[in-house]
Amino acid sequence: MSAKTQRYKTVLRQYEQIRQQKEHEWKKRIQYIYSLCPRLEEIETEIALTSIKIARMVLEKPQNSKELAMQLQQSTLKLQKEKAQLLAEYAIDKKALEMEYVCNDCQDTGYIGTQQCHCMKQKLMDIAYQQSNIQQIIQKENFDTFDFRYYSQTIDPQEGWSPQQSIKKIFHTCMDFCENFDITFQNLLLYGSTGLGKTFLCNCIAKELLDKGKTVLYVTAGQLFRMIEKQRFDKTEEEPPEDMMEDLLFVDLLIIDDLGTEFGTILSSSELFHIINSRLLTKKPVIISTNLSPDNLIHQYSDRVVSRIVGTYTTLKFFGEDIRVKKKFHHTSP
Ligand SMILES: [Zn+2]
Repeated sequence: MSAKTQRYKTVLRQYEQIRQQKEHEWKKRIQYIYSLCPRLEEIETEIALTSIKIARMVLEKPQNSKELAMQLQQSTLKLQKEKAQLLAEYAIDKKALEMEYVCNDCQDTGYIGTQQCHCMKQKLMDIAYQQSNIQQIIQKENFDTFDFRYYSQTIDPQEGWSPQQSIKKIFHTCMDFCENFDITFQNLLLYGSTGLGKTFLCNCIAKELLDKGKTVLYVTAGQLFRMIEKQRFDKTEEEPPEDMMEDLLFVDLLIIDDLGTEFGTILSSSELFHIINSRLLTKKPVIISTNLSPDNLIHQYSDRVVSRIVGTYTTLKFFGEDIRVKKKFHHTSP
């Protein structure tokens, strides 16, 4: 079995598990609601029985079908009304009686008609690029959990404003990026020393867009370079996903984290240029995060790549003290 088929099978199994889980939760919920208000269960049964009864009558006397349909509508309407009153009385949300889905677009089947749903494309990519843990990370690292308090309010004389003022501006730029994702084509370059929240903000954006049903591929530059080189030269060991180039070029958002920590070869930087350039032409957004300043980036990569990035990307500069130290202190203090 090819790796691709294997991934596909794994994803189908995941959907089956999700559906089973959701059905289980739904049944438990319904049972609980019926125990609170048994009349609701009676109503459901009555509605079901009435339609069966009338369907049978239509079979027996098809000439009366119109009249019977009216009858059905009237009796169901009466029951529906009673149901609505009971729900209001018991303060039960109507939705609680319905089955819930993780993805409403495909009802957790992975398909919309014959087309793969965005959630399936994402699941396949999550496995292929070992980014399945991103789902857990973004539950913790998202726009709602971002904490400005870790950033100093002291004005940095060189920058002319405080790290907190600056991060607030960056935060809103990132939110706008998500909000206008379908309207405005924009690329972001997040740069500055480590421990200032660049990866955290990448995760915030990933969560927001995944929630919107977009596909997101998150790779570190090191991982990206290794995959490119392996695909070219090393066919024996642990091959990168077959559709790697297609994913890198066509995923709704590509996030390249930590550019500059890995030493890119001439080949990998030219591939990087190819990816960045193609995505610019097709207006597919990219977010790059790096510890290097644009000047230092020029040293590390070919001018072409960097001039593309600096010239067309919205650059966001992170500065201040490493907040990870403060966070650690915050978590361990009583
Ligand atoms: Zn779906």
